[in-house]
Amino acid sequence: MLNAIRWAPGGLSRVELASATGLAPQTVSNLSRRLLDLGLIEEGERVTQAAGKPRTMLKIRAEGRYAFGVHLDADRLVFVLIDFLGRLVASRTIIADPDAGPSEFCGVISSTLMDLRRNADVPRGRIGGAGVALPGLVVVDLESSGSDAFPRLQGLDFGSLLQESLELPVSLSGDIAANALGEYRVGAGAACEAPAYLHLSTRIGAAAIFSGEVFAGQNGRAGDLAHLVVDPDGPVCDCGQRGCAVACLTREAVVRQAAQRGLTADGPSPVGDGLQELHELVDNGTPEATDFVAAIARQVSNALVAVAGLMGSDAAIVGGAVWEALGESVLPQVVASVRGRVGSRGDDAPFPVLSGVLGQNAAALGAAYRELLAPREARSGNP
Ligand SMILES: [Zn+2]
Repeated sequence: MLNAIRWAPGGLSRVELASATGLAPQTVSNLSRRLLDLGLIEEGERVTQAAGKPRTMLKIRAEGRYAFGVHLDADRLVFVLIDFLGRLVASRTIIADPDAGPSEFCGVISSTLMDLRRNADVPRGRIGGAGVALPGLVVVDLESSGSDAFPRLQGLDFGSLLQESLELPVSLSGDIAANALGEYRVGAGAACEAPAYLHLSTRIGAAAIFSGEVFAGQNGRAGDLAHLVVDPDGPVCDCGQRGCAVACLTREAVVRQAAQRGLTADGPSPVGDGLQELHELVDNGTPEATDFVAAIARQVSNALVAVAGLMGSDAAIVGGAVWEALGESVLPQVVASVRGRVGSRGDDAPFPVLSGVLGQNAAALGAAYRELLAPREARSGNP
């Protein structure tokens, strides 16, 4: 019933709720009373309809419940607090220590989240839980996905440890899926029905939204694009093929290729610096850099056509460090390149390709949003 109210713009009246949920009017009336008493919903304006008496609209109460979101990324930890409408209340980013052990991670997460809550003046009892995004696709598999980023968390039931430490329900998700959900709910894709999300950063992956959820696949590992060939003339991949997405479009691969072409300094500087350097060269119109990012635009387009075509998506959102650095420069080429290759045929409108807008908060927001909407009874199955 809460979700029916949530997704109706302007809220729903009790009569509309009964028809939307199939519940008896008396049940709707009793449940509404309980949700009002719990402070989860509130009464809005009275709306007069053509026939019958005025109806009072029921709406989600922003202060009714809150959720924490955490993104454990390889080089930073991002924390957010959102209200029941999904709006960002507070956020903080700290530098990650990838060699930290489980108790250090639990300690720093608990103390940072409690600090955010206190500063925002949110009562402890209003926090519904914490969504945590870890390096991975849809469902986290720490043994294979998280091991390179956080070696000391490998093989642990980190969700349960964190739940004990926080004394709150905790749900884990892969950060590519969390990015997708964040952008879909409160970011670039808020107007889309079923967007595909392409993530270009240290890892490459995609996530597709179906019925408001990230499509998980049979084993929770849908969206692995690493060895999709995006450029038949691209660099040789470890797998033996030429031009896999992982060999062309990760931030490490982009920086390595730029250095090999003599565009940027080849050295031990952080990969982020290499991307920034490349961005500046493109901005200044350096022809070699422009040619190089044109190739990246074609590769991204090929990945998008594959993902959005397979999933029947109505739009594509692209995010991650590579896109944050180069997206603005290559977006027009990508839009031109996917046009006519994906989306409805015979329609002149270009297929919408959108840049993620949530930046480094995207995954934490998506994880928090997932936690906010998690039905209580479904949580027992989650760590
Ligand atoms: Zn490969």
